[in-house]
Amino acid sequence: MTDVLIIGGGLAGAAAALWLADLGRSSLVVEARARLGGRAHSRDWGNSGGPVEYGGGWIRADHDQMIGLTQRLGIRLVPRAEITGHSYFRDGVWRADPAEDMATHESAMANFLADASGMAEDTAPPRMIHGMTLQDYLDHRVYPASVRREIMAWWSISGSAAPDVVGADEYVTPKLAKGLMIKLEELAFTAETGVASIAQRAIAASGAGTVLGDAVERVEDLGGRVRATLASGRVVEAATALVALPVNALSQIRFVPSLSPAQNSLRRSGHAGRALKLLIRAKGPQPGHLATGETLGIRWIYADRILPDGTTLLIAFGLADDIGEPDRATVETVLNAAFPGAELAGFDWHDWTQDPFARGTWVSPVMATLPAYAPEHWGLRGRLAFAGSDLYSAEQGWMEGALLTARAAVAALETCLQQDL
Ligand SMILES: Cc1cc2nc3c(=O)[nH]c(=O)nc-3n(C[C@H](O)[C@H](O)[C@H](O)COP(=O)(O)OP(=O)(O)OC[C@H]3O[C@@H](n4cnc5c(N)ncnc54)[C@H](O)[C@@H]3O)c2cc1C
Repeated sequence: MTDVLIIGGGLAGAAAALWLADLGRSSLVVEARARLGGRAHSRDWGNSGGPVEYGGGWIRADHDQMIGLTQRLGIRLVPRAEITGHSYFRDGVWRADPAEDMATHESAMANFLADASGMAEDTAPPRMIHGMTLQDYLDHRVYPASVRREIMAWWSISGSAAPDVVGADEYVTPKLAKGLMIKLEELAFTAETGVASIAQRAIAASGAGTVLGDAVERVEDLGGRVRATLASGRVVEAATALVALPVNALSQIRFVPSLSPAQNSLRRSGHAGRALKLLIRAKGPQPGHLATGETLGIRWIYADRILPDGTTLLIAFGLADDIGEPDRATVETVLNAAFPGAELAGFDWHDWTQDPFARGTWVSPVMATLPAYAPEHWGLRGRLAFAGSDLYSAEQGWMEGALLTARAAVAALETCLQQDL
């Protein structure tokens, strides 16, 4: 019998397949989509001359698991373009400064960064942040519009949920104390062959069997083995199983016996991550230029690189509910405002919030649900282990988090399999 049934062929499931193979364990990966990678979704876009990242893309220099795995799989990392300029949207126009009254802006921004820094010590003023939504916090501090715009611009590439449903302490963290720009500076590398190639190569190297395009609908822990029933009616079995799914996709699976109360509460509430990552091609913008602020829901735009056809690839973010369905007029308005004279050549995106196998972008916990993500709730349960970047790890929400949780799950499954001997 196969040792481990891996449910979900994203980075967590794929890395687990490889690391299980290192231990001499066999696995079968069942993936709902016809492709591997999940929210690591790299594909050519017209004549882009290589993959463009529709989902996760940037790898931090301290993401040791990601760097180690790409090296092992022979995938080259490409540095992000240097930041060459920054413009800010205010009063309907993009400008060189975030505010007309820079003294007020800078003193309010200093207060924000002091709150962020103070969260480390949990000292008096920041403590009030605990228990507040991000929206309550912004209102409470009475920040000028320029500071709110900057905070929300960086939030849209960071937390990605509506500010009235997430806790302020999700964002106002010591990591931000050095400034908001640190968020872009952290995003050091992309993968030359696309991050989806990490999942594809890891599974190929593991020798795992794969079933693609067939969603798991029911998982039964039968004591000595695990059985999964797929949408096609096919039934597969293994000694154990790894559930490597987005938290927001768990509700589509019936678990027998039922998951624990904490797991079920998270399965019901889900997370609130609803970013929209918009890919734009335009003639004119110089790579390295960043624009932050807000136009028609777009809050953050970065000119990433020149494509083989001479157009620039721009990566933009906002909250999906603020943007709605991006259309040509919206994209043209935003582009022309941020990069005067730029000529729109095309735009594209993947709607992660409507995607039935993601139902959201990266994890952004609804306020007060954070304890349900804790590792003690997602350890081995019978013959099931759990992994995925949505679950708690030191790098929760990142591709690195997917790998960290996969490492822990592989160790737990190995213990379970050894007990069978
Ligand atoms: C727009 C966007 C931008 C991002 N940017 C970054 C970034 O720059 N850097 C970074 O580190 N991270 C980023 N992330 C986050 C990162 O992409 C994810 O955290 C990571 O890829 C998640 O990996 P995973 O394996 O945990 O989950 P997933 O990739 O979601 O994999 C789960 C798999 O399970 C499958 N599945 C779902 N339901 C079923 C079912 N019933 N049966 C079988 N299979 C099922 C899915 O199809 C999927 O393939 C971004 C995410 C998005 C969406």
